[in-house]
Amino acid sequence: MRPFMYAKATTASDAVSAIAAGGPGTRFLAGGTTLYDLMKLDVEAPDRIVDVTGLTELSAFDTAGARELVFGALARMSDVAADAHLTRAYPALAESLWKAASPQLRNMASVGGNLLQRTRCGYFRGGDPFACNKRQPGSGCSALGGIDRGHALLGGSDACIAVYPGDWAVALAAFDAQIDVLGPHGERTIPLEQLHRAPGATPHVETQLDHEELILRIRVPVTRLGRASTYHKIRDRASYAFALASAAVALDIQGDTVREARIALGGVATRPWRARAAEQALNGQRLTPDLARAAGEIAFRGARAGRFNGFRIELGIRTVADALLIAEQRT
Ligand code: SF4
Repeated sequence: MRPFMYAKATTASDAVSAIAAGGPGTRFLAGGTTLYDLMKLDVEAPDRIVDVTGLTELSAFDTAGARELVFGALARMSDVAADAHLTRAYPALAESLWKAASPQLRNMASVGGNLLQRTRCGYFRGGDPFACNKRQPGSGCSALGGIDRGHALLGGSDACIAVYPGDWAVALAAFDAQIDVLGPHGERTIPLEQLHRAPGATPHVETQLDHEELILRIRVPVTRLGRASTYHKIRDRASYAFALASAAVALDIQGDTVREARIALGGVATRPWRARAAEQALNGQRLTPDLARAAGEIAFRGARAGRFNGFRIELGIRTVADALLIAEQRT
């Protein structure tokens, strides 16, 4: 690890000013579970760190509001995952947190920082021996034609096929969450679904955030789709593993009929992936195992497999189908 300067911010505006003054080599520090990891690997080498963990006003969360759920960016994943009202009224959101990482990491990581975790692509994390457009723009992509078992089936480009690895952002995408951020020119709001960028020709630019912008809070509109929801995550082992395929699903069913459905995919795409065509196929229909399977197939239309990751298309289809049937049981 290389030496770096450390400063602790006392207000959100101080933190933003310190980042702006420090320039592109400056990073915010929240839980540190991604930043320290990548610094040890020499993938991240900041020359200055601005610690925001003292901004206690960003640690609160409220899951019982009449119009929206509000999560301060520094709320701990474990605290939010254990919230009784969230678990009962929005199980998909709670499950996406407690199925992520390990208990120790969930105790450290913040719900704002979690949105910004970086890809697990081994070539990205492996350092200099490997060409990687995300780590070193213009150097190439070792995963294209390489070991791509865990890489993206949806949303990739000729420059990068890295999967967005998070769970929480996928569940938030299904619930139309919004992100409030603070920058040098004040606050603005970004729809969660637009926060992460497709790689295109610039995979090193991962989000719509400007370098100086700090996530303040996440807001989720109250919806009648909360209770009949699930975050279904399939992985190589039962815990502490990233998704091979996941689906956040929420349903509004009246009588026998689906009035509205939400489906977002994780572990298979370059960013949290809302499957709107699959949602539309369910509206006004009676949910059956065949229809659930058909929705999964629609969700994976356009998927592009490489050498080793093709098995995850069928796995993803089944994940969506199973998630729909699990959510239906909660109506
Ligand atoms: Fe780098 Fe993306 Fe290729 Fe992985 S998939 S090696 S992150 S460019």
